[in-house]
Amino acid sequence: MPENSALRDVVAALPKVELHVHLVGSAGIETVTSLARRHPASGVPTDAAQLREFFTFRDFDHFLKVYWAVQQLLRDSTDIHTLVTGLAADLAAQNCRYAEVTVTPYNHLLDGIPGDELLTGLATGRAAAAEEHGVDLAWCFDIPGEKGTKAGKETLVFALTNRPEGLVSLGLGGPEVGVGRAQFEPYFTAAREAGLHSVPHAGETTGPATIWSAVHDLGAERIGHGTSCTSDPALLEYLGTHGIPLEVCPTSNVCTRQVPSIEAHPVRRMLDHGLLVTLNTDDPPMFGVTLNGEYLAVAETLRLRPAELARLARNGVEASFLEGPARAGLLAEIDRTLAR
Ligand SMILES: [Zn+2]
Repeated sequence: MPENSALRDVVAALPKVELHVHLVGSAGIETVTSLARRHPASGVPTDAAQLREFFTFRDFDHFLKVYWAVQQLLRDSTDIHTLVTGLAADLAAQNCRYAEVTVTPYNHLLDGIPGDELLTGLATGRAAAAEEHGVDLAWCFDIPGEKGTKAGKETLVFALTNRPEGLVSLGLGGPEVGVGRAQFEPYFTAAREAGLHSVPHAGETTGPATIWSAVHDLGAERIGHGTSCTSDPALLEYLGTHGIPLEVCPTSNVCTRQVPSIEAHPVRRMLDHGLLVTLNTDDPPMFGVTLNGEYLAVAETLRLRPAELARLARNGVEASFLEGPARAGLLAEIDRTLAR
């Protein structure tokens, strides 16, 4: 269909940013193949066809199995470097220039990677991402919420003690049900006082009350997912008035059954209410998605025109913590792309 291929060209040509992608969940087949070959005792398939089958999304339980299998393959700075540069290559292929990548140091340390190895891998991977792929990476260190306040405290201490180059924010991930946001208030307050931004997941698998708590208790400057916000008119109003962006990951929400389909996704209502919607992938290879694929899916479903697609790309830059000439340059490039 010519209309579809024209949209595809616009999506591919637009420079983009990615604001919600988990480092472990970003591991593609090639990356996992080399990690699995480096650690043959792990039991993760090293054969491409077998690995592809293992990676194919079936249901959320299987997704968790894949996620933790990859997590177990990360033993030292070389593994982390491989993971980061693999992500950078994938981002570059999507014409994605800048990404805020969520890293969960607490889980890596718990799994036995020394903190120095983790930090070294992140630093060398980030440098190679810029040099070899032209992708600027920033880090969000997030608290695995299900592990409670101990994880909150240790994540904060690790972040502030080491303060690696590129670290811009503190996040909060893991399951939301039964994991109240408010208990993490002290860590977010301390992080914000130290100059880090607050970007918790909220309202993905629970209702709008979690988003309110993220805003009031954690000072959220951006909301991870926020899918349930459309069921609360006062919250929609608040997010719109305060310009709090949403990191929307449409296919991820379908995979985890938070929404039945892209057609039924509340992204339409979010946009109708003038919210600052950004499009992201969450755990791209594990959900079988790409950033361009998400833009295209939303554009086709909502019948967006090229100018509206460019608006979404701009939203990503505006909602990011990218600063100075890089930010202005990317916005100008989006405008030039649209004008062509
Ligand atoms: Zn996420």
